[in-house]
Amino acid sequence: MRLLIAGPPGAGKGTQSTRISALLGVPHISSGEVLRDAMGTDSRVGESVRAWIDRGQLVPDELVLSLLQQRFSAPDVVEQGYILDGFPRNRRQARLLRYLDPYRSVEAVIRLVVPTSVVRERLRRRGRDDDHASAVRVRLAEYEDATRPMLAEFSRAFAMVTVDAARTVEEVTSRVLAGLRKHGLIKGLDLPSRYAGSALGNDA
Ligand code: AMP
Repeated sequence: MRLLIAGPPGAGKGTQSTRISALLGVPHISSGEVLRDAMGTDSRVGESVRAWIDRGQLVPDELVLSLLQQRFSAPDVVEQGYILDGFPRNRRQARLLRYLDPYRSVEAVIRLVVPTSVVRERLRRRGRDDDHASAVRVRLAEYEDATRPMLAEFSRAFAMVTVDAARTVEEVTSRVLAGLRKHGLIKGLDLPSRYAGSALGNDA
């Protein structure tokens, strides 16, 4: 399965991707995580990535692409697809995705919708290094200027699963799964047994 998850910073893309990845056995690819890993390395690339992330700006497309390339060619992704979180973030990256994706196309876009007031409060509580006020301001502006227009185009090109992400983590997951089911991408309740009896298993 090839899924793309999109929404503003703080919408819960990472949390939902991790859960959906575990439930459906689809590898999670997070561009933010790939970049934070690169930032952890003691290199010039690491240093420049840190500077962009700390300002809340988008890292240049070429750099993101070259760091993501390796992940996309990993055997698990080639065999099982992906749930892609944080990429693409603008129209150009959306075009470049075709070259990264061994299958050349996503099957559905999960769109998490949440009011800015909720996002601000979540980011304030999360407290990641790049959740300070000025970076949050820039990230929200990047989302409005670059990502939202791209998503408007996606809604004409792909199957869309739009979910109110101000709800609880469990409710959001269950609505995402219901949406995927509606589009015929998953069937029935074929959840792994370890989820049986959990809140997730019950409502999924
Ligand atoms: P995230 O973990 O998705 O919230 O991303 C954290 C930060 O990583 C963003 O504010 C950007 O600086 C950078 N980043 C993540 N994904 C991308 C991307 N696709 N293109 C450019 N920068 C990105």
